[in-house]
Amino acid sequence: ETIERHHSELAGLILEPIVQGAGGMRFYHPRYLCEAAKLCKAYGLLLIFDEIATGFGRTGKLFAWEHAGVEPDIMCIGKALTGGYMTFSAVLTTDRVAACISSHAPHTFMHGPTFMGNPLACAVSCASVRLLLSYGWKEKVLRIEAQLRRELAPARSLPQVADVRVLGAIGVIEMKHPVDMAWMQRRFVEEGIWVRPFGRLVYVMPPFVIRTEELAKLTSGLLKIVGEIPAGQKQSL
Ligand SMILES: *Cc1c(COP(=O)(O)O)cnc(C)c1O
Repeated sequence: ETIERHHSELAGLILEPIVQGAGGMRFYHPRYLCEAAKLCKAYGLLLIFDEIATGFGRTGKLFAWEHAGVEPDIMCIGKALTGGYMTFSAVLTTDRVAACISSHAPHTFMHGPTFMGNPLACAVSCASVRLLLSYGWKEKVLRIEAQLRRELAPARSLPQVADVRVLGAIGVIEMKHPVDMAWMQRRFVEEGIWVRPFGRLVYVMPPFVIRTEELAKLTSGLLKIVGEIPAGQKQSL
C-alpha cells in the first residue's frame, strides 16, 4: 500500500532479505522477496538488499536472496566480508546502476568516508572470501543448523520462552519478557560462553569453524541460563 501510494516519491526499497536482524531476529518467507521485486519492477523502484548480517553463507545460502532467487539492484555487504578480521564494508550494484552513476556528473559515487577502499582491508576480504569458498562452508552451516535445531528445541517447552527459531547458522530463543542483560551476560560468562542478548532475544550466530562440542557447550549454556529466569514474571531490570 505504501509503495502504491508513494511510488512517485520513492527511489528504492531497502530490505534485509529473509532475516530481519537487530530489529527482532525475525525470519520471513522467501515469497515476500518475490512479491517485493515484482512491485519494484512495476513502479520502477530500485530493490536494495542489506546483506550485511545475512551474507557469506549465514542463512545456508551464500546470500540470503538466493532463497528466493531474487537479485537486487544494489546490495550492501560488511561484517563477514573480512571474516571480521578488519573493518570493511561495500556496496555492490548492477551494471545498470553503476553505469547510471558513471554517466552523470560528477561521474563518481559521491559518498566517501576518509578511509574508504583501504587496500589492506580489500586484501583481507579477498583472502577471507577465497578461504570461505574453499573449505566447504555450506556443509558446515548445514551441520550447525541441524545441531542448533536439535539442541535448542527443548527451550520451546520452557514457560519463559515464546519461540525458538533456527535458520542456517542463526539460533534464536525469543523470551516472553525482556531479559536482564547485565545478569544474563554475567551468568553466561560464568558458564564459559559469550552471548549478547538484547530485549527479549537471546541469540547466537557462531563462526562456521565452531566444533560440535563447542556448539554443544554454547547451546547447553543457553538452555541452562534461560531456564534460570523466573517463569511467568518479569525479571526486575
Ligand atoms: C551490522 C549491520 C549493519 C551496520 O553495518 P556497518 O558496516 O556497521 O555500517 C547494517 N545492517 C545490518 C543488517 C547489520 O547487521
